[in-house]
Amino acid sequence: MSDVELSLVIPVFNEEENLTELIERCVAVCDATARRYEIVFVDDGSKDKSRQILSDVAAKKDGNIVAVLLNRNYGQHPAVLAGLAQSRGDVIVTLDADLQNPPEEIPRLLAKIDEGCDVVGSVRENRRDSWLRRLPSRIINAVVRKTTGVEMNDYGCMLRAYRRNVVEAILSCHERSTFIPILANSFASNTGEVTVKHSKRSAGDSKYNFWKLINLQFDLLTSMTAFPLRLLSIGGGLMAALGFLAGISIGVMRVAYGSAWAAEGVLTVVAVLFIFTGVQLFGLGLLGEYLSRVYDDVRGRPRYFIHKVIAGSEPVPLHGESSVVHLSLKAEGQA
Ligand code: UDP
Ligand code: MG
Repeated sequence: MSDVELSLVIPVFNEEENLTELIERCVAVCDATARRYEIVFVDDGSKDKSRQILSDVAAKKDGNIVAVLLNRNYGQHPAVLAGLAQSRGDVIVTLDADLQNPPEEIPRLLAKIDEGCDVVGSVRENRRDSWLRRLPSRIINAVVRKTTGVEMNDYGCMLRAYRRNVVEAILSCHERSTFIPILANSFASNTGEVTVKHSKRSAGDSKYNFWKLINLQFDLLTSMTAFPLRLLSIGGGLMAALGFLAGISIGVMRVAYGSAWAAEGVLTVVAVLFIFTGVQLFGLGLLGEYLSRVYDDVRGRPRYFIHKVIAGSEPVPLHGESSVVHLSLKAEGQA
């Protein structure tokens, strides 16, 4: 095990106005925890002075502060991944650089980890963002809760703590589109949540514009479930069935009441249209089913993580996929 007990991982994209205060507050909090710590800043291709400020402090503070400079802007989640890969701590905390998540809340996350959780999320108490920014988050949170079955109330909040084994599990996934909190939860055995304060952005604007946000939500959706594809098959099947039934009933009515009833053939055309569109949609959905399986294989996520192998009293070397990572067992009653 490394000698670092706590790593903070912070993505930074054009945050020059916030950095000095951020660094001061993080260092103060980490000093107070009395753990050996490191703060890993990942500069995500900033165009302002952030890069310079980070390089300077990292060079000064012997090893406590690490600056990872990406060559260009890749987005928040890739930046966090770069930081996770660089981090060495037993517990890793991610947070945003804009001081919306107060670093002073970190000890409470750590306390939850010490209680035995391996992922601790946070819920933003009266969130200080515009409703335009809040609405998509709310919808997404509800969908994620339904599909992953993990009861977490706020996936968007990046103030989160992970145990080393969960971070290793995240890093062993090599897919391109990632949404870290969801990936983490898919490997966690015990998850916890704490309520944290949320402040207004202290300086600068949100780095997410409308399109970036949409992109992120699609990343999230596709990384989680292939259900939208299945929806195509279901919708198509229903439509074709409906068209078929309509066709039959039109035929019967036509024979019984004459051609005027079928609106001179218009209804027949509608029924045929339904059948054909339905069959096409169904076919698309079927293609989608194959596609989602191909996607799963291409992602190549480890299929399982071993907690431990017992054979007699001696420790047994692990074999099989991802045996490097020892994830703790699911606690009883945990979804
Ligand atoms: N960020 C980043 N790269 C990007 C966009 C954002 O590293 O392309 C960082 C940003 O500096 C901040 C965090 O990700 O530390 C969250 O961004 P922001 O506060 O703009 O998002 P919001 O609070 O609106 O979700
Ligand atoms: Mg923010």
